[in-house]
Amino acid sequence: AVVNRINAVEKSTDAYLSLQTEVALEMAQGLDAELSVRAQRTPLEGIPYGLKDNMCTKGILTTCASKMLYNFNPPYNAEVYDRLSEAGGILLGKTNMDEFAMGSSTENSAYKKTRNPWDLNKVPGGSSGGSAVAVAADTAFYTLGSDTGGSIRQPAAFCGVVGMKPTYGLVSRYGLVAFASSLDQIGPFTKDVEDCALVLNAIVGHDAKDSTSLNLGKVDYTQNLKQGVKGLKIGVAKEFFGEGLQPEVRKSLEEAIAIYKTLGAEIVDVSFQHLDYALSAYYMISSAEASSNLARYDGIRYGFRAEEYSDLVDLYKKTRSQGFGDEVKRRIMLGTYALSSGYYDAYYKKAMQVRTIIKADFDQVFGGCDVLLTPTAPTTAFGIGEKTSNPLEMYLTDIYTVPVNIAGIPGVSIPCGLDNNGMPIGMQLLGPILSEETLLKAAWAFE
Ligand code: GLN
Repeated sequence: AVVNRINAVEKSTDAYLSLQTEVALEMAQGLDAELSVRAQRTPLEGIPYGLKDNMCTKGILTTCASKMLYNFNPPYNAEVYDRLSEAGGILLGKTNMDEFAMGSSTENSAYKKTRNPWDLNKVPGGSSGGSAVAVAADTAFYTLGSDTGGSIRQPAAFCGVVGMKPTYGLVSRYGLVAFASSLDQIGPFTKDVEDCALVLNAIVGHDAKDSTSLNLGKVDYTQNLKQGVKGLKIGVAKEFFGEGLQPEVRKSLEEAIAIYKTLGAEIVDVSFQHLDYALSAYYMISSAEASSNLARYDGIRYGFRAEEYSDLVDLYKKTRSQGFGDEVKRRIMLGTYALSSGYYDAYYKKAMQVRTIIKADFDQVFGGCDVLLTPTAPTTAFGIGEKTSNPLEMYLTDIYTVPVNIAGIPGVSIPCGLDNNGMPIGMQLLGPILSEETLLKAAWAFE
């Protein structure tokens, strides 16, 4: 059914960069035969899914939507891919994204523009736009994305699906092509909250191959899912309802707050002191880390190499000039500048200090509530091409999602209404480190 759906709509949505539907069908048939003589089935067994194209898949192209990796067939698998294979998942293909996950609309892909299935003239959000669209357009039952500053939650909101960024360290980053290593985290896109819990069950867990992976006992995220929100303290902060918030988004969030009240939750006012600095700190830190992580693309070891060059330095220069797109170059330049001697203290170090202060802000807020309720993004999906000439305006779409990565805490975006043009609105629920169970419980109660 999913392959039929792909054949019918993928041409207009362009969610995938590569597909392996024949292989998927063969795997499904093999599994059917096996299951006909076996009574028990595990939850994800035989369920077709998609992976963002920045997760390594052995022998399957992994391009990060960049010309730089146009021919990169990884010699190893990302840990999440191995875990999903073990859970019986069937990989359909690799999904489109902003180049190296830098962007908020998937328009920075070197290969194609993914379209929002709710309105094909609108962006799907980004950077995991392909993963969000595959779930929204029924061309996968679930997908994985990566979230460095909102790249799971924002496209989930724009496409009307569930998207979760887990606590930093909960899901292994082994085999995820690095953008900003201290912020990157893998998480699921699903049609509903229960599916989100099921996918999380499969991908969470310690991995010795990722030095930042948390070593904790196993949790079943479906166990307390349906317990309701009676007595749960839900915080609302005016800093998340400021200037630039689309009126329909505000209204829909206010309605959501009223629904939580009727469900027995207690709504409390909380406030942040330093949230205004989060976006600048994020773009400083993420670009600094990106400039270092992307130094490896030199045209020597793998990936793209310029055809004509005079010497080694010229080879580096031409390869990187031709292989990277504009946004990636902008981040490399910004990050290199922020890390250079003479500027390091004023920019990178300052941003790291701001990071500590923002973490403290969240600690203080979670002293007064269990969960924080915010809009996922200030607006619903915007038009294709609308913000491409103004990077700052594009960065501003991340204003409600980046503080979460800076603090390393988990966040989930769930659909909570439609705007006047019928485009989906997303609500974001945030909690302290490792509060995934509480977040999913609160999300399920609303859904
Ligand atoms: N839009 C943000 C950026 O461009 C977030 C990207 C992400 O989460 N990967 O950096």
